[in-house]
Amino acid sequence: MSRTFFVGGNFKMNGVVKSITDIVKNLNDAKLDASTEVVISPPALYLTLTRELANKQIGVAAQNVFDKPNGAFTGEISVEQLKDTSIDWVVIGHSERRVILKESDEFIARKTKAAIDGGLSVIFCIGETLEEREANKTIEVVTRQLNAAAKELSKEQWAKVVVAYEPVWAIGTGKVATTEQAQQVHAEIRKWLGATVSKEAQDTVRIIYGGSVSEKNCRELATQPDVDGFLVGGASLKPAFVDIINARI
Ligand code: PEP
Repeated sequence: MSRTFFVGGNFKMNGVVKSITDIVKNLNDAKLDASTEVVISPPALYLTLTRELANKQIGVAAQNVFDKPNGAFTGEISVEQLKDTSIDWVVIGHSERRVILKESDEFIARKTKAAIDGGLSVIFCIGETLEEREANKTIEVVTRQLNAAAKELSKEQWAKVVVAYEPVWAIGTGKVATTEQAQQVHAEIRKWLGATVSKEAQDTVRIIYGGSVSEKNCRELATQPDVDGFLVGGASLKPAFVDIINARI
């Protein structure tokens, strides 16, 4: 079963008009592997600028969305508002939001459900902390995070999900998971999809790796059978992001 390779760029809280314009123009002008789906995620304030500037084959993702349709929720952005400004993707459950902003599995699952109900596709982030890995709890943790989503989503809605496995200890640290570590967890996630969602989801849902992916380590990671792409933080702000998008050519 071949799945379309997927590379996301999470700019996090980085960039201003000038630098984001430069990054997007660089991507527009680069020769990108046509068989790879590319989605970039700037800070909320620059979503419309990015959508207007980026070539149409490049998707744009918000870094967050709220689970309620509208109302007195100061500082939040709704699914409808994203759709209204031609944003089709959203990153949900990033570890920086889980850890720093204390978002729970249940809240993340509700946001995922609201996003998909409203027509967005979701980059659904999961992953264990260093402490959890050292306590041999990696699979338990990612399964718990996935089970929360499975409680909310219909089986069909998983077609709108890209699962991003991002070990927290590898994010922004320069410490990348080995190809074996990444493949082992991705294979477990795929098994979980088959057992909990459907055979179709097991075969078709993309599982991407995130955590200190660079132009140096991406090629080896991309050879793994269950690594369907990457979610890239720091390196997505640099010209080397193009090499990561082209990891398979
Ligand atoms: C991320 O923010 O999702 C990420 C993986 O960051 P980095 O590539 O910088 O580790």
